Amino acid sequence: MNFAFKTISEFNDRFKDEKTCYELLEQQRWGGVPVCPHCGTLKTPYKVKARGKFTDIPSYRCSERACDLPFTVRTNSIYEGSKVELRKWFQALYELNISKKGISSYELATRIGVSQKTGWFINHRLRAMLTETNPELLSGTIEVDETFVGGLEKNKHLSKKVKRSKVSRTLDEKIVTPKTVVLGLLQRDGKVRTFVVPNTQGGTLNPIMRVNVETNSRIISDGWTAYQELKDQYTHVSVKGTIGSYITYGDQHTNNIEGYWSIFKRGIIGTFHFVSPQHLQRYCNEFDHRYNTRKQSTDTRFAETVKQFGSARLKYRELTPNQPEPHRKARYTKKATD
Ligand SMILES: [Zn+2]
Repeated sequence: MNFAFKTISEFNDRFKDEKTCYELLEQQRWGGVPVCPHCGTLKTPYKVKARGKFTDIPSYRCSERACDLPFTVRTNSIYEGSKVELRKWFQALYELNISKKGISSYELATRIGVSQKTGWFINHRLRAMLTETNPELLSGTIEVDETFVGGLEKNKHLSKKVKRSKVSRTLDEKIVTPKTVVLGLLQRDGKVRTFVVPNTQGGTLNPIMRVNVETNSRIISDGWTAYQELKDQYTHVSVKGTIGSYITYGDQHTNNIEGYWSIFKRGIIGTFHFVSPQHLQRYCNEFDHRYNTRKQSTDTRFAETVKQFGSARLKYRELTPNQPEPHRKARYTKKATD
C-alpha cells in the first residue's frame, strides 16, 4: 500500500473517505485477509451488511460455528465502540505524530471536527496505544536523570498544598514532593524511555533501571547518590559538579537527556498547560514515541503506528474515574482537562 504523503493536504487526499481508511487498517492488521478477532479461526468469514452508524464499511461474521460473532476491523482495537469516523482517528494520529510538542485536545477538536471532550478521549486512547508492548533492553551508553512536573506549590490553593514538601531529590521517605517525578533513560543514538515514579529514592529508581538496561552497559548520571547502588551491575559514571548542571568531561555528560526534558517540558507546559499525575504516563509515552521515531519520515511513522491498532482499548470510565460518564451527564458537563 502506498503511503507516500508529505503534507497534511496530501494526507487528506490520500485518506479521503471511510472506505480507504478501512482498507488501510485491514491491510495493516490482517494483511488484507480478515481474521476473526474473537476466536482467531483461519476460516474465511462471511461478508455481511454493515450495522450501526457506519453503513458502507466492510463487515464480517465468523464462519466458525462455535463462534459465529460479527466483527469489523475495529473490533478489539482502540477504535472499537467509537462513533467517530476512522478518517478522523487517522487525522488525529497523524497530528500526534507530526506536532513536535503534542497537540492539545482543544486544538485537535477544532482540526478534526469533534467536541473537545471527544478530542481529549481520542488523544488518550492513542497515547495508550503508543506504549511499547515488547520493549528491547537499552544498551551501550545510557544517560539517566529525573525531572519534576507540576505546578508551583506557592500557586496552589491552601487545601491542596502538601505539608513538609520539598521540590528536590530526597532520600527521606517522610518528605513528599508536591510535584510528579519522571525518570528518564536515554540510550545514546537510540531510544528514550520515561517513567512516572513516586519518588527519587534508589529503591524506586534502580529496579526500573535493572529491568530496562542490559547488564554491563555504561550508565551516566549526575551526582545523585541514589544511583551509586548500580555499580554492581553496570559501569556507573557520575558526572560530578552541581546537580542538574551542564558540566561535561569528554563524552561523560547527560546533555541528551537534559535536552529531551526541555522538549518534554515545553510540550507539557506550553501545549497542555496542566497534566494531572494520573494521566502523565500516557503523555510520557507520546513524547517517547515521537523521539524514538524521529529518524523516520512522516509517512513511515504513520504507517507504523497504524499497525499498533489493537494494543489498548481504554474506556472513558477508566480515564475519568471521578467524572460522570458522557451519556449520564445531567445538568452540567465538566470539561476534560489535559
Ligand atoms: Zn470467530
